[in-house]
Amino acid sequence: MLADVDAETLCIDADALERVVTAQTRAVIPVHLGGHPADLARINETAARHGLHVVEDAAHAFAAKYQGRAIGGGSNLTAFSFYATKNLTTAEGGMLTGPPELLERARVLSLHGMSRDAWRRYEKGGGWYYEVVEPGFKYNMTDIQAAIGLAQLNKIDVFQRRRREVVAAYSAAFGAEPALQIPIKRPDVEHAWHLYVLRLHLERLRIGRDRFIEELTARNIGTSVHFIPIHLHPYYRDKYGYRPEDFPVAYSNYLRMLSLPLHPGLSDEDVQDVIEAVLDIVEKNRA
Ligand SMILES: *Cc1c(COP(=O)(O)O)cnc(C)c1O
Repeated sequence: MLADVDAETLCIDADALERVVTAQTRAVIPVHLGGHPADLARINETAARHGLHVVEDAAHAFAAKYQGRAIGGGSNLTAFSFYATKNLTTAEGGMLTGPPELLERARVLSLHGMSRDAWRRYEKGGGWYYEVVEPGFKYNMTDIQAAIGLAQLNKIDVFQRRRREVVAAYSAAFGAEPALQIPIKRPDVEHAWHLYVLRLHLERLRIGRDRFIEELTARNIGTSVHFIPIHLHPYYRDKYGYRPEDFPVAYSNYLRMLSLPLHPGLSDEDVQDVIEAVLDIVEKNRA
């Protein structure tokens, strides 16, 4: 079951969640989209009332906080991604946080279903004996990836500071432009700023989002769209018979969103280039 998103944060809408929960529902998977934490207080409350698990998709939310606590620091099973594009990377891989018993089970499943001691058998003092306690996978992180991750971890504060500086520059430049809508940050969160999702007020422009992106490309600015809503993808559309307007908030925002370059390697000059390009396109294409 899909639930529509909140019009401001584009994270799951807690009211929409209430409407799709049924007796069959077992868990809810909120995405902290772009690094803005979802409304966990209401999601957790709904989940508790219906006896659901909450599995947080924190792929964008490393270093984010909700009501003063780090995302992943609570009692929900929380999945982070360290894929190449994320705020902290090990090229591929990720991390789970959550209740110790679930993490222990995940650890066993991630290496052939071998009991915990198997991880230690090549260490000094480690024995040869292990047991396969259930059929598992080979989903373990390599030591090389972990070494990259530890080096990244030392730099995460610097990375996040630069992301916030870039965001502040973009939002200062675009905040007063009536054709543009800048991303919001609710007061009770720390935003991980994985993405800077700019939204167009299409009624104030003579061009649509696709053309806006082409104009940016022509000015040598790379952008993307995060994301094409799940219900528009052929597999889900055809299997479940979804129409675009079944999730009107996700759909209408999809049509007017684009993600601007946002990463710690951006120079002040790069940021200025992006700002000038965006404002130039708006100026030349006002309705
Ligand atoms: C990247 C990403 C994932 C998947 O992460 P992997 O490490 O590639 O499995 C999941 N959810 C969101 C929102 C993502 O952006």
